Amino acid sequence: MRDTTKLHPRLQEKIAELLELCEKNKIKIGIGECVRTVAEQDALYAKGRTAAGSIVTNCKGSSYSSMHQWGVAFDFYLIMDVDGDGKTSDDAFNDATGLFEKVGKLGQTIGLEWGGAWKSPVDKPHFQLPDWGSTATKLKQLYGTPEKFMATWDSTSKVDQTAKKETVTAAKNKVEAAKSKNTKYVKPYTTKANLNLRSGAGAGKDIILTIPKGKTVMCYGYYTKVGSTVWLFVQYGKYAGFVSKEYLA
Ligand SMILES: [Zn+2]
Repeated sequence: MRDTTKLHPRLQEKIAELLELCEKNKIKIGIGECVRTVAEQDALYAKGRTAAGSIVTNCKGSSYSSMHQWGVAFDFYLIMDVDGDGKTSDDAFNDATGLFEKVGKLGQTIGLEWGGAWKSPVDKPHFQLPDWGSTATKLKQLYGTPEKFMATWDSTSKVDQTAKKETVTAAKNKVEAAKSKNTKYVKPYTTKANLNLRSGAGAGKDIILTIPKGKTVMCYGYYTKVGSTVWLFVQYGKYAGFVSKEYLA
């Protein structure tokens, strides 16, 4: 499916950034495959096995082992006239001038994992979020199925009306970077109280918005410790910032 809106909210932001970067570098790309259903993955798996063609994937749909099934990966293609014949349609995957590598490098600068950097299979048109490792093993452990994983995005993307009113402040706040990372913090948390999402680690930092009690926030393992307090860097819908871990369950 070529529907970027079905992807992880943070990956959608990365795609917008990548498109902008490519444009600056005079490279035009399109976004191809995004989220893949079990049926779509099974159809791909059949290629070269029970269906015609050559083998294109080692991931069975029912095993949820393609990152595309988890909504954290997308493929791109070129919209460029690489061979100079006046057409772009025949050059979608023409790597004669090294454009895939260029786009791959640009993606890496904004924190995307590029399939072209893999040893096997080398997958130049592929990008994914790096947070859960290169394969789906960790996601399977944490969530079981893509449906359950995606349900955590739904709850985090439903931002309250009150929260929306404060987006003006959010836009003004520059969020500081987390100082540490520990995979033991990677999971969805529920807020135990109305909780301030702040632009930095510390009770004195600017409030981006107040997250109501009982909402889900997602931590990807990044945090900053101030004294004995752990401030987790979390995603809440389209907002990212710091919350004190004490108020999370
Ligand atoms: Zn891919």
